[in-house]
Amino acid sequence: MTGNRAVACIEPGKVEVQTIDHPELVLKDGPGVNPANVGRTCEHGVILEVVSTDICGSGQHMVRGRTTAPAGLVLGHEITGEVVETGREVEFIKVGDLCSVPFTIACGRCRMCEEGHTGVCLNVNPDRPGSAYGYVDMGGWVGGQAECVMVPYADWNLLKFPDRDQAMEKIRDLTMRSDIFPACRTSARRSTRPASRPAGTARTPRRRPPRCSTRSWR
Ligand SMILES: [Zn+2]
Ligand SMILES: [Zn+2]
Repeated sequence: MTGNRAVACIEPGKVEVQTIDHPELVLKDGPGVNPANVGRTCEHGVILEVVSTDICGSGQHMVRGRTTAPAGLVLGHEITGEVVETGREVEFIKVGDLCSVPFTIACGRCRMCEEGHTGVCLNVNPDRPGSAYGYVDMGGWVGGQAECVMVPYADWNLLKFPDRDQAMEKIRDLTMRSDIFPACRTSARRSTRPASRPAGTARTPRRRPPRCSTRSWR
């Protein structure tokens, strides 16, 4: 298999198109990867050929040097692509499917995933709960600003567009399905609260904002 052109974060203010290894259904060492993740097989995953991707505002934090992003981290967590290879354990996603990839990586089987808190999945990042593609402190998963990317737990993570031709007609809009649209919707839902509360009553605890942030901001 030939190389894979990808956009890597080099240093503050500098990104570079590099040729990296073509993805395989196994986790490899790289910038930000915890050694405990190296060598994990991902027969539950797929290889996607990227069709479209966004440059996220939160990616700007890394590019502009406001984080501790390691040099060489391949960026991109907003991915839309066509499946070109499936692992042995993938049941519902097929080669040729056009899919949107949620930016949070989740196993779909841990306690947090079962409760719907996929942004803090317990099984994808040995450093702490939660993970994302191409993001600082998120496990070092290779990002989708690339020709191809590996997506784990594909039956759980991928959203297949039911009508490929129809989806391609609106692909630039649908690209925002992986992060911007759901993040905005979640923000709006979670920010809704009464304008005032009766005297003497307790404040409703604020819930966590949606992921697309990092604790490494300076
Ligand atoms: Zn984003
Ligand atoms: Zn999980």
